[in-house]
Amino acid sequence: MSTLSVDHLLGIKYLKAEDIQLIFETADHFKEIINRPIKKVPSLRDITIANLFFENSTRTKLSFEIAQKRLSADVINFSASQSSVKKGETLIDTVNNILSMKVDMVVMRHPTPGAAAFLQQHVDARIINAGDGAHEHPTQALLDTYSIKEKFGTIKGKNVVIVGDILHSRVALSNIFALQLLGAQVMVCGPKSLIPKYIRELGVIVETDLKKALQWCDVANMLRVQNERMEVSYFPSVREYTQQYGLNKELLDSIGKEIVIMHPGPINRGVEITSEVADSKQAIILDQVENGVAIRMAVTYLLASKIES
Ligand code: ASP
Repeated sequence: MSTLSVDHLLGIKYLKAEDIQLIFETADHFKEIINRPIKKVPSLRDITIANLFFENSTRTKLSFEIAQKRLSADVINFSASQSSVKKGETLIDTVNNILSMKVDMVVMRHPTPGAAAFLQQHVDARIINAGDGAHEHPTQALLDTYSIKEKFGTIKGKNVVIVGDILHSRVALSNIFALQLLGAQVMVCGPKSLIPKYIRELGVIVETDLKKALQWCDVANMLRVQNERMEVSYFPSVREYTQQYGLNKELLDSIGKEIVIMHPGPINRGVEITSEVADSKQAIILDQVENGVAIRMAVTYLLASKIES
């Protein structure tokens, strides 16, 4: 396969395993390039990309921007806090105004689930979903699975547990889809109040005891509690959450095997993971960040190659 089966990256749900393989192979190539002294390639010299962030982001926005610049694309950045959205303009109007400046691709983060798919139906540009509410965050899942593959050589047959706030996490859903497509077994672990009832229907194992989950897994992906999406309290206190679902060295040492630790960032040190664990050799958190640039270069490049000239 030399081209993606999709024209937009709206979610992992729409991808085939072969699409992910192609993105990984392309990312391998770009990873080699970004480790050279001259990190830039002229591939997307004629492409203009708009990064539209209607919700806060630090690493995802930076990572996309670096990826686009390494490909020599022209980049414009827009964030809702400085925009007319605050003055009441609709999403379609905002985006159409930007597109009339001849933009070829839009990378969008939005607090509403389905916003990227909605946009794709209404505007004529390639769309990359950079996170739509608690729904999907496809490039995060691609970089996570790529990092697991880099560590083990394969994803097939690996046991991966996603720990914490599954209910409000777009990282969890996209990871579940990607891991299953690539042949991993997926478990989710957290307090019952943060595990959606439908989750078993996706074919994942549910575990509420963190120690048992760690004993089962090869990889633990520790999620941040998404306080910004909570209207009510889902657990008694942060202290109690940390006592039951926080990952610390003592707990890791007690499971009798070495597992790989991941985190999508931003980390709440001392809440879902201690600094000692986050900074340990078992953690591949900074590899995930590095791989994020290569993955976003790959996705951007592959979608841009489908733009008719
Ligand atoms: N950065 C990830 C996201 O945007 C994870 C997080 O915020 O906790 O969903």
